[in-house]
Amino acid sequence: MLLVISSPSGAGKTTLARRLLGDNANLTLSISATTRAPRAGERDGREYHFVAPAVFEAMAGRGEFLEWAEVHEHRYGSPRASIDALLDHGRDVLFDIDWQGAGAIHQSAPADTVRVFVLPPSMADLAERLHTRAQDSKDVIARRLGRAKGEIAKWSQYDYVILNDVFDRAYAELQAIYRAEGLKRVRNRWIEPFVRDLLDQSLDD
Ligand code: 5GP
Repeated sequence: MLLVISSPSGAGKTTLARRLLGDNANLTLSISATTRAPRAGERDGREYHFVAPAVFEAMAGRGEFLEWAEVHEHRYGSPRASIDALLDHGRDVLFDIDWQGAGAIHQSAPADTVRVFVLPPSMADLAERLHTRAQDSKDVIARRLGRAKGEIAKWSQYDYVILNDVFDRAYAELQAIYRAEGLKRVRNRWIEPFVRDLLDQSLDD
């Protein structure tokens, strides 16, 4: 499964994603490459692979991204090789990416992609979370808020929409989505041989 989570900056998507990763050993985060500078506390290879614009260009030119997009004047891309390796090992991959990436991932693998959008309860709440996070300058926050409505307007391109007003409830909904999607018949290869064997079993005891 390719599980994509999007939201405007500050809606709590990263916190939801981290908790889901912590609770599900078979789910791994796709670590994007970005040309933006690391924020305080971010480490190369953990939140992102931080690369220079020229390096990003070269990677994109070689087709190394499953998708890439420009977001807030920086480039972000999902590295194809690590995603393929995870899927080959039967793992589910979580993407914390924007609406452009969600669309591209869905187009590349429609049957395997599950798209979840996280809504903030209000624009005032979004602004407050961005300010209290205090990771960005006032300028950057203003730009992120300016983009938020454009991102929210894409809600109908997603399979599920979660309202993050109460974190625990929003998280329970996200986990329910991941569980139910994982239980779908088409995602469980064990069923067919199991049923074949079941039907082959003798009724004599
Ligand atoms: P931030 O700079 O706050 O970490 O991320 C800015 C935006 O870029 C977020 O909406 C985030 O989900 C998105 N983003 C991060 N990585 C990728 C990626 O690889 N592809 C796309 N399309 N968007 C990404």
